[in-house]
Amino acid sequence: MSLPFTDVELARLRADFPILDQKVRGKPLVYLDSAASTQKPRAVIDAVARLYAEDYANVHRGVYQLGERATRAFEAGREATRRLLHAPEAREVLLLRGATEAINLVAQSWGRRHVGAGDEILITAMEHHSNIVPWQMLCEERGARLVVAPIDDDGSLLLDELARRIGPRTRLVSVAHVSNALGTVNPVQEIVELAHAQGVPVLIDGAQAVARMPVDVQALGCDFYAFSAHKLYGPSGIGALWGRAELLEAMPPWQGGGEMIETVHFEKSTYAEIPHKFEAGTPHIAGGAGLAAAIGYVEAAGVERIGAHEDVLLALATEAVREVPGLRLIGTAPHKVGVLSFVIDGIHAHDVGTILDREGVAVRAGHHCAQPVMQRFGVPATVRASFGLYNSREDVDALRRGLRTVIEVFQ
Ligand code: PMP
Repeated sequence: MSLPFTDVELARLRADFPILDQKVRGKPLVYLDSAASTQKPRAVIDAVARLYAEDYANVHRGVYQLGERATRAFEAGREATRRLLHAPEAREVLLLRGATEAINLVAQSWGRRHVGAGDEILITAMEHHSNIVPWQMLCEERGARLVVAPIDDDGSLLLDELARRIGPRTRLVSVAHVSNALGTVNPVQEIVELAHAQGVPVLIDGAQAVARMPVDVQALGCDFYAFSAHKLYGPSGIGALWGRAELLEAMPPWQGGGEMIETVHFEKSTYAEIPHKFEAGTPHIAGGAGLAAAIGYVEAAGVERIGAHEDVLLALATEAVREVPGLRLIGTAPHKVGVLSFVIDGIHAHDVGTILDREGVAVRAGHHCAQPVMQRFGVPATVRASFGLYNSREDVDALRRGLRTVIEVFQ
């Protein structure tokens, strides 16, 4: 199996990530936890540093040049996000703290207005906690019900079961584009069609998707799309919610404060237009600049090629772990990307992670903020190796060697 990036290209890409050039416990760092957070290329680090070193001031209000430059750098993140998602208009992009805040915003602002007693929010059994708990909180407050579409033994969504659960009380369908615990890619376009046929809007949690596949919210036809920059080679603390203008315009503000108002009187305040209505307070200014740089970087590398590169690494790693006695993959859906989740008989996931760490291999061990997925598969935790554009065949070999050591230690 050949990788889409040539050796020279991959070496060049890896060299863009200064953090990778280090030893951990005397071994070269092998970073296999990009599903939790990706590392940052020099272009992003420089964009953030340049903002602070050369262009920093508060945004949107300064009449002076520095303030204008900072505003431009921050707003570049919004325009880049519009491009990334193929959204019609930049004003439909809200720059928030990340996917978690984006989903909470929809739950609190849209949800409080549209969800009442006896109504239902439909999610799937593979959601990250950030696409479960905000809906539970809303349901508790409004007397509504959280309905869950089940998944198959291989981690695929049971689409018919999801379709059966869309009914007259369904107010919103909220699904992951890609599962962080299983790697399953959901048929989001079909989900949107099913939901829209019944007049139900759809939110897509794209946290695991945007760095691996092209996303076109107009082609998908969804109503909201959320992601975090830190899983897209960008800074942590910033991310975006895209929403249809007419939905966002009709939604009440969520947090109150500076930036989000038009006029303020003690008797009554009026609110700014979107996106500012939803961006109370001073935002993550350098984050906006870093997000723009991250999107530029991913565009230059080519998101399709990044996805194809990770697919080959996933196939190689899936093959490599077959030799490990007692290893069971969790999540083997035909359409999956990016992550390899597994358990080994008689060895706790944390022990596997700790031994791999001694070999310089950084993987995740735990429930991956998806406890219901663990419950579904009857395991307390899994080991998860996940890939990014900088990973190589050698990284997969290091994982293979590390797992041999794990087995030796426990024999
Ligand atoms: N959804 C999915 C599928 C995720 O993988 C994550 C992050 N692990 C989130 C939502 C939440 O993202 P954040 O913590 O950046 O808000």
